[in-house]
Amino acid sequence: MTAWEIKGWCPGALRPMQSGDGLVTRIRPPLGRLTPQQAQAIAEAAQSHGNGIIDLSARANLQLRGVTEASHPRLIADLRAQGLIDPDIETESLRNLIVTPFSDAETNALATTLTAALTRMPHLPGKFGFALDTGPRPVLTDASVDIRVERATDGRLILRPDGHPLGQPVTDLAKDAVDMANWFVQSGGITNGRGRMAALIARGTVPPGCTLAPADPLATPSPCLHPDGALVALAFGQMRAETLQALAALGHELCPTPWRMLLLVGATELPAIPGLITDPTDPILRITACTGAPGCPQGLGDTRNLARDLALHLAPDQTLHISGCAKGCAHPSATKTTLTATGQGYDLIRNGTAHDTPSLTGLTPQAIQDHLKALHAPYL
Ligand code: SF4
Repeated sequence: MTAWEIKGWCPGALRPMQSGDGLVTRIRPPLGRLTPQQAQAIAEAAQSHGNGIIDLSARANLQLRGVTEASHPRLIADLRAQGLIDPDIETESLRNLIVTPFSDAETNALATTLTAALTRMPHLPGKFGFALDTGPRPVLTDASVDIRVERATDGRLILRPDGHPLGQPVTDLAKDAVDMANWFVQSGGITNGRGRMAALIARGTVPPGCTLAPADPLATPSPCLHPDGALVALAFGQMRAETLQALAALGHELCPTPWRMLLLVGATELPAIPGLITDPTDPILRITACTGAPGCPQGLGDTRNLARDLALHLAPDQTLHISGCAKGCAHPSATKTTLTATGQGYDLIRNGTAHDTPSLTGLTPQAIQDHLKALHAPYL
């Protein structure tokens, strides 16, 4: 039994999730990219039907915040006109696919094939997802998904169950992906409607034919000019609609990524737009902070204002996770230093998750600042 609520499903556009600041409406970009016109429409919809705040999720989706029951139908109509809305909730909830932003013509064709195959999947848990990571080397290794399409060291396509080091050679992507999902269901991967591939693999159950190792993954990139375009970051993965509008006006396709960054496809210079981070040394990039209070109804304290204050005090190699409650949504795994809001200040956890045993409790923001140097001293 946990002290926080586990929803077990992800919001969509057709099935938004209630939050502290209204409905969170999640848009899943078709094939992992947005045309400038679609990006412009999303920005306008955020202003007209939400509170103008747009999140970039850890699954490379865009979330409009502050939508109301009254404005939601008009929002859907506007986005549907741009080809951004699935025909129904079931189709939307199955389209849990992250596509590498560094795609080529083959990847784009595979994305179309895999998207079509998703409609033929068995009934899967709400958080079950796929990654199409078919650049020369994987870049989505840290993204939370269940079935990965990657390249083996010899360039062949493989289907790799998350949590297992090896994958199956692909002969027919659509059929093979559906077969692996069926294997997951038939092998007991689902309990009470929930389950993840990595958990099944950890129990020693592995699909047949997994013999090929993927190519070595690349590290998560920083904001930079990349051969495929300009990678720009957003503090905590959040931007104002005006920022998206300015990006859309540059005329490039946009690829949301799971790294709180957007790729402006084909851009040859980093744009100077308020709200974007283009300096890879910006300390805000080394702080992970969830929505916290008041945006999240489960939040027991502010996270992002505190993060902005603490960023000024971080040493160049220091990192920090600030969580609005013990659920730890923004970084479910362990980090060197985590601050968890408790309603009575903040707990400090070293080398653990947001719900592990703290080494200090009841810290005020001022006390955290005072402690910061000592907190990180062991890691300097
Ligand atoms: S970790 Fe943050 S976003 Fe997640 S439930 Fe708690 S306050 Fe909300």
